Amino acid sequence: MFLRQKNRIALISVCGDPAIEIGKEEAGGQNVYVREVGLALAQAGWQVDMFTRRSSLEQAAVVQHSPNCRTIRLTAGPATFINRDEVYSYLPEFVYSFLVFQQREGLRYSIIHTNYWLSSWVGMALRKYQPLIQVHTYHSLGAVKYSTMSDLPPIASTRLAVEKACLETVDRVVATSPQEAEHMRQWVSTKGTIEIVPCGTDIDRFGGIPQNEARQQLGIAPDAKVVLYVGRFDPRKGIETLVRSIAKSSLHGQANLQLIIGGGFHPGQSDGIELDRIQDIVNELGLQNITTFPGQLGDTNLHLYYAAADVCVIPSHYEPFGLVALEAMASGTPVVASNIGGLKFTVVPEVTGLLVPPKNEVAFAQAIDQILANPAWAFQLGQTGRQRVEIAFSWYSVASRLGSLYTQLLDRAASVSGSKSQVAA
Ligand code: UDP
Repeated sequence: MFLRQKNRIALISVCGDPAIEIGKEEAGGQNVYVREVGLALAQAGWQVDMFTRRSSLEQAAVVQHSPNCRTIRLTAGPATFINRDEVYSYLPEFVYSFLVFQQREGLRYSIIHTNYWLSSWVGMALRKYQPLIQVHTYHSLGAVKYSTMSDLPPIASTRLAVEKACLETVDRVVATSPQEAEHMRQWVSTKGTIEIVPCGTDIDRFGGIPQNEARQQLGIAPDAKVVLYVGRFDPRKGIETLVRSIAKSSLHGQANLQLIIGGGFHPGQSDGIELDRIQDIVNELGLQNITTFPGQLGDTNLHLYYAAADVCVIPSHYEPFGLVALEAMASGTPVVASNIGGLKFTVVPEVTGLLVPPKNEVAFAQAIDQILANPAWAFQLGQTGRQRVEIAFSWYSVASRLGSLYTQLLDRAASVSGSKSQVAA
């Protein structure tokens, strides 16, 4: 029998802790998405529990974000950082911990929204124990990621099989852009039901401060030409292309050109290794005097960096959505991005920024120069970007669309279950 606990939902994100600091290794867009969707759904009247794996003993087991929204950290494997690919073997323990939690709290979720393939496995396993509606967001597709790799990791075949089973069997897959939906059809399966609901951004957090004020607070000169990168240090983010494009820029050699590369890192881990590699390229190209690495940007300064920049560059090789593009646009800053994935959906060329072929440092240099050389046009691009985000990409609108989807699926399941019990009677 399908039991509906009204408006109670579990968001499951085994590896993207919604309560953790963002911008360091493996903590990026997925963490932001789960947290912001959770908070916005709670504001809209849902009881939201967000489940993740506990990765440190110092972490609280439960974080209460707002009266109806909390993060619950479940035990699954050792309470230490584990590379995502290695978490797979601990998923049965995650399922067990989830079931124990439900029982202890006297709860039974009838709808879950899983995030990333590892959580999709958890959702599909839970459905064997109780009637459950499952909605899934991939955040990244193994098939696309592996298509450019020559040496596949040992987990690859498992991930591909789980992603295919997920698309074919869960109640609804959410694609965050039409491009991601196309990738699913092309690379994963032609079966299953997909609904497009984009990501959002915090339109109150970004965009409230003029450029000169932000620069004053950050100690950046009013006449500087500021090129900004925000994101994780990962080779797939294409930071190398950006650095090489700055060496090719026609403004290279001018004292006021500045490159800011923002993002957290752990020395010795994969993001620390990528930072070292990028710093070597910066030094080799003689850009060390104009390049700064402010480290992880957060609540106190991320909005200032976006506002202070003349252009925000997103040189990714693969990006299912790309929250940074929305954040920059919400801040009124034009974007130069790779012409790929979700970036083709969010950035409108010549309207909110420019799109160029990925890995093409010459094309990036030309696009950055074009924006830096035309401040009035750049201002217009920024203004239109802000309008676009306000209209289409706030978390409120995302949560409202997801909320309608959940309600529709719950109502459908309740009516099927109702007609079954009538037949039985
Ligand atoms: N981010 C942050 N501080 C940093 C670097 C990144 O808060 O120092 C955030 C950034 O603002 C964005 C997210 O991390 O919200 C990155 O999301 P995106 O979708 O662009 O990339 P992903 O990390 O998912 O590949």
